[in-house]
Amino acid sequence: MTKLKPFLFFDFDDTLVDFQACARVAMKVALTKLGQSYTDEDYQTYQEINHGWWKRLEAGEITRDELRFGRIRDFFSAMEWTHLDPTLGTELFMQELGGQVVLYPDAQPVVLELQAQGWKIGLISNGLPDVQPQRISLAGFEGIFDPAIISGQVGFQKPDSRIFTLASSRARKAGRLLADQKIIMIGDNPEADIRGAREVGWETLQFVPEKTPPGKGQFSQWADFLPALEELVQNL
Ligand SMILES: [Mg+2]
Repeated sequence: MTKLKPFLFFDFDDTLVDFQACARVAMKVALTKLGQSYTDEDYQTYQEINHGWWKRLEAGEITRDELRFGRIRDFFSAMEWTHLDPTLGTELFMQELGGQVVLYPDAQPVVLELQAQGWKIGLISNGLPDVQPQRISLAGFEGIFDPAIISGQVGFQKPDSRIFTLASSRARKAGRLLADQKIIMIGDNPEADIRGAREVGWETLQFVPEKTPPGKGQFSQWADFLPALEELVQNL
């Protein structure tokens, strides 16, 4: 008897798409529209500020709207761009962000190959509700992930165990996940994806693009994903 294939849940940003590359392009376009020149070093400043705001969101201290506006306001003020309007900056950046997807090499063909091989595939992404669905379809994944759980739509963020439980119960209700079927979470973030999924008893594969060689349960490029998955599944 062939072993039942585990259900695969993917993370989106920094796993399938290179989010930093997307945000960098979006910021450049938004600032160009505002007539502001900008360097890669400036982006580092934004990144640090943004990271702080996401930490506060994950801790439940602020809302998403506060994050969107606050990170741009703080960025403009750190750059001393007092002539720029942070409200307009936020609007332009969000608009551009929704239209940017830079995929990691081989990520999309690998996911399509998994689907062709009969794997059941879902998505759990910490992302903004009005931006993420558009980005997922722009990346060429429209209709591939079922269920596709976006934190901003359901009110929980990874690593909160409730988002994982919600994802598996939706897959189960849709008849795509069986009661005793194993689940593997594939993501980059050691906290949100890996610890979060392990806490609800799932298996994990971590994408570590900067790390060579990758450790056990990790892969550093999408071209190596299928063998890494096979190895994990054999040992379940
Ligand atoms: Mg990620």
